[in-house]
Amino acid sequence: MSIGASIGGPRTRFVVTLGPACESAEQIGRLVEAGAGVLRLNLSHGSLESHLSTVATIRQVEEARGVPIAIMADLPGPKIRLAGVVPEHLETGASLTMVGPEEGVDEAGLLSIDVRGVLQAVEIGHRILIDDGNIRLLVVAVEGRGDRVRVGCVVTSGGALRPRNGVNVPDSDPDLPAVTDRDLDFAHAMTRAGADFLAVSFCRDGDDLRRLRSEVSGDAAGFAPGIVAKVERPAAVANLMDVVAASDAVLVARGDLGVEMDIAEVPVVQKRIVAAARSAGRPVIVATQMLQSMIEAASPTRAEATDVANAIFDGADALMLSGETAIGRHPVLAVEMLRRIADSTESWMDEREGPEVPSPILLEASDPWMPAIARGARRIAADLKAVAVLAWTRDEHTACLLSHERFRIPVFVFTDEPVLARKMRLLRGVRPVVTPAITSRDEFLRIATRIATADGIARAGDACVFVHGSGRNEERPTDAIGVIRIDDAPGGAS
Ligand code: PEP
Repeated sequence: MSIGASIGGPRTRFVVTLGPACESAEQIGRLVEAGAGVLRLNLSHGSLESHLSTVATIRQVEEARGVPIAIMADLPGPKIRLAGVVPEHLETGASLTMVGPEEGVDEAGLLSIDVRGVLQAVEIGHRILIDDGNIRLLVVAVEGRGDRVRVGCVVTSGGALRPRNGVNVPDSDPDLPAVTDRDLDFAHAMTRAGADFLAVSFCRDGDDLRRLRSEVSGDAAGFAPGIVAKVERPAAVANLMDVVAASDAVLVARGDLGVEMDIAEVPVVQKRIVAAARSAGRPVIVATQMLQSMIEAASPTRAEATDVANAIFDGADALMLSGETAIGRHPVLAVEMLRRIADSTESWMDEREGPEVPSPILLEASDPWMPAIARGARRIAADLKAVAVLAWTRDEHTACLLSHERFRIPVFVFTDEPVLARKMRLLRGVRPVVTPAITSRDEFLRIATRIATADGIARAGDACVFVHGSGRNEERPTDAIGVIRIDDAPGGAS
């Protein structure tokens, strides 16, 4: 990637799911223009080949626009889905029989699911929920054994069905590994193709994430993909701190969470997950139904707009769109709407509240330098009314810690590693800029002040805080912090 343009707009970051409604280079370009920084490929749908081809399209768009774009490959995990042909509608009160993939039949009155070993854990009286609970079934009979189990159900709440709708069995506890063999194949392929993040669906504890990390560690040419923990199962909530600690980022997957748990608990669980991720210094994404009505409508409901703002108040780094962009009628409008709500929410936060006090980060005893520098930078920037933070690093840790401090001024992070710049697109407030290799602090300050000035952020006489993060793995770290005043000469600093 050539020298990057910097990223403007609100500090909140946007993860946007690609799908049939927005997969062409032209549409991806418009989503990026509207503010999408992380593009999510939902591997539950489509073929691996088509996702790999989308990766190539994204990289072309990135090169053409000169801004880093992160790719998140979302692994299906043991997500249960309807298989085969499905009726268009299920009537309330109707009876049907559910079968596993072993049966492989497309018979009238039979509904088949695509994961083995699920129906064996189902008992009479259990609920089976389809399409995030929009359609509800009650189990009234269980017949057969082993691979041939057939489950008789009554539809307690009917509705329209679509092929491959999601299925949840919240009362049963099938023993399903979070990372299936199919996930591993996807994870290897997407890592080799250069995905920046792998999202792990239905993880139960930190071990699920550690296992995947070690599996893909040898695949990447340079930096390995970040591991995103999707918290959507009661077990992951119960093991929250272990899950967060084993992850590089956390995703509040409200869709499945609201089905696997009592939906009334979702708002509080969202706050707990965001707080846990913030306290551990992990970026956190709030996902699902943020602008759901925009799948059809050109404008969201008032409640959706308020939900978006509240996720920002909670401290989320990023907000995610799913169906709104993947299959929606207004994908670009939906991203623009997120951006407008974020702009207005952040302006209000800047005007009305005192400085955001970051929650205490769990300091790694082995690395007290950069957390201390990041906190100091925040204090110095406030005291001197600095207009920007200018950081230079070859390490993801530095950008993450600066983001954690929740500066209200832009935090430009310069790096010659495009892979690192892409990962920074998840970090609230961080504007990654890819530069050619920088060899001295003077050269860095010249480039950084030129970009901050060209962006209209810094003018002659303004103060900027600069930070050099040398990297956690350096034997003799040269982390540094300082203050510069922008000179009259273009790109100058003293
Ligand atoms: C969710 O359940 O909220 C979610 C993001 O997961 P998926 O879209 O894969 O169902």
